[in-house]
Amino acid sequence: MKTLPEVRTVQHFINGEFVDGVSGRTFQSLNPATNTPIAGVAAGTGEDVGRAVQAARRAFDEGPWPRMSAAARARALHRIADLIDRRADEIALVECLDTGIPYTQIRQGQIPRAAENFRFFAEMTTQVPNATYPVEGAFLNFTIRVPVGVAGLITPWNTPFMLETWKVAPCLAAGCTCVLKPAEWAPLSASLLAEVIREADLPPGVFNVVQGFGETAGAPLVAHAMVNVISFTGETTTGAEIMRNGAATLKRFSMELGGKSPVIVFPDADLERALDATIFGVYTLNGERCTANSRLLVDRRIHDDFVGKLVERVARLRVGVPMDPATEIGPLIHPDHWERVTAYMEIGQREGALLATGGKRPAGLPVGNYLEPAVFTGVVNSMRIAQEEIFGPVLVVIPFEDEAEAVRLANDVRYGLAAYLWTGDITRGHRVAQALEAGMVWVNSQNVRDLRTPFGGMKHSGIGREGGHYSFDFYMEYKTIHVAQGTHRIPKMGPGEKERPTGFRGLGC
Ligand code: NAD
Repeated sequence: MKTLPEVRTVQHFINGEFVDGVSGRTFQSLNPATNTPIAGVAAGTGEDVGRAVQAARRAFDEGPWPRMSAAARARALHRIADLIDRRADEIALVECLDTGIPYTQIRQGQIPRAAENFRFFAEMTTQVPNATYPVEGAFLNFTIRVPVGVAGLITPWNTPFMLETWKVAPCLAAGCTCVLKPAEWAPLSASLLAEVIREADLPPGVFNVVQGFGETAGAPLVAHAMVNVISFTGETTTGAEIMRNGAATLKRFSMELGGKSPVIVFPDADLERALDATIFGVYTLNGERCTANSRLLVDRRIHDDFVGKLVERVARLRVGVPMDPATEIGPLIHPDHWERVTAYMEIGQREGALLATGGKRPAGLPVGNYLEPAVFTGVVNSMRIAQEEIFGPVLVVIPFEDEAEAVRLANDVRYGLAAYLWTGDITRGHRVAQALEAGMVWVNSQNVRDLRTPFGGMKHSGIGREGGHYSFDFYMEYKTIHVAQGTHRIPKMGPGEKERPTGFRGLGC
C-alpha cells in the first residue's frame, strides 16, 4: 500500500509562478474515502482570473509560443508527455486521493492516456492541413490556420487530469495560450499538471491555472473580454448558463455535456462479451463517466437470462478503498454527490422500478462516500431514473420487443452523447448505428477511443467536436489569402464623363 502525502496547499499558477489568491481565501478538498481534508486550495476570484488572463494574453500577443515553429511546439508537448510518464505514480496517487476512483483504473488507464493526449497532438500540430484554390492566371488563393488566441478551459471533477490534458494538449498544439479552471471537488492534479508544464520549460503565461468555484472563478473567465474561446466539459445546465454569460463577448464555445447513453443487446449478440462490456461501461470510474452506458435495452426474449447474470455479477463487484488494487468501485466524489445519487434509489422505487441489487452503503465501510453498485429492473423509459443523468454506479434495464422499439427507446431521451449496440448481424449493426441519435456509436465494443475521431455529443450532450483535426477547428481560425498574379481588371469609379464603370466584379461582402 502506498503512503499518503501530507495535506498540501494548492495555489494558482499564473505567468509561470505558483501564487496565492488575491483575496487570500481558501477552500478544502476532501478525500472521498474519509471526507477528511487533504488540501487547502486557493479560492479564485475575478481578480485572480484577471491576472491569469492578462498573462495569457501577453504570452499570446507578444510571446514566442504562437510564433515558434510547429516542430518546436511539438518538442515541448513531447517533453510534457515524458514528464507525465515519469511522474505517473505520483499523479495517479494524488488523483486517487482526490477523486476516489480506484488507483488501478487511474494508473493503468487515465494517466497513460493523459501522456498520449500530448503525444498525439504534438504529432497533429505538424500536420495541420491547409488548402489552395488557384484561379488560373489570375489569383492564387490559399488558407492558413492561425491560433484563435486565449482559451478558457473549464473542466469537471470526473477523471480531472485526463480531461484537462484532453483540452490543454490541442489548445497548446494550436499555438493558443490558456487559463484552466479545474473543478472545485477535484482540484489537485491540475496543480501537478502546472508543475509538469513548468518543468517542461514552456514560456510563462502560456498555461495558467485559476482554482476555485464555478460562480466565482469560472464565471469571470467566461465573461472576460480578452478570452476568445471557452472549452467546457460539465453538466448540460452549466453549459447553458456559460453560453448565456459568454454571449455578450461573442465567445466561441465547445460544449461537452451530460449523457444517458444506451447499450442495446440483441439476442444474436455474443452475450458473454456484451455482458462484460455493459458492466465495464457503467461501473468503471465509479460510474462517474460521461459516456457510461447507463441504460441497458435488452430484447425481451433474452431479458431474464441476461439480466439474471448481470445482477449476479454486479452484486459481486468489489467496493472498497480506492488504493486497494482489488477495488473495482471506490467512493463517490463528495458527500453531496453521494446524497444525490442515493436519492435516485428512492425515486426509482417510488416510480415502480425494482432495485434488483445494490444502492445501499456497503457493510464495513461506515465512512466515506461508498455506495453499492445498483441495478434497476422493470424500468419504463419515461421514469426519471431512465431520463436523468445519475452520474453514479447505477444501471437501469428496459426490455424491448423488436429493433424498431429498441431504436425508439434509445433515442427517446434529451441526451445524445454515446450509444453501444451488440449484435451478430452486421447489417443490423450498421442499420441501427445509423438510426441512433448519438455523437458516437460503438458496435460490439466498449468505449475504445481513437484520438483521430471527433468526440462529442448531439442534442443536449454538447455542441461541437474535439479530437483529431476537429480540435484545431475550435482552437484555430482560418485565414484566406488572395494573391493577384497579374493585372486583372479593376472597375474604375469616378472617371468623370469619359467612361462609365462596368463589370462590377468584386462586390461580395
Ligand atoms: P459542473 O457543470 O457542475 O461543473 C463543471 C465545471 O464548471 C467546474 O469546474 C465548475 O466549477 C464549473 N462551473 C460551474 N458553474 C459555472 C459557471 N456559472 N461559470 C463557469 N464555470 C462554472 O459539472 P461536474 O459536476 O463537475 O461534472 C459532471 C458533469 O460533466 C456530468 O454531467 C458529465 O456528464 C459531464 N461530463 C461530460 C463529458 C463529455 O465529454 N461530454 C465528460 C466528462 C463529464
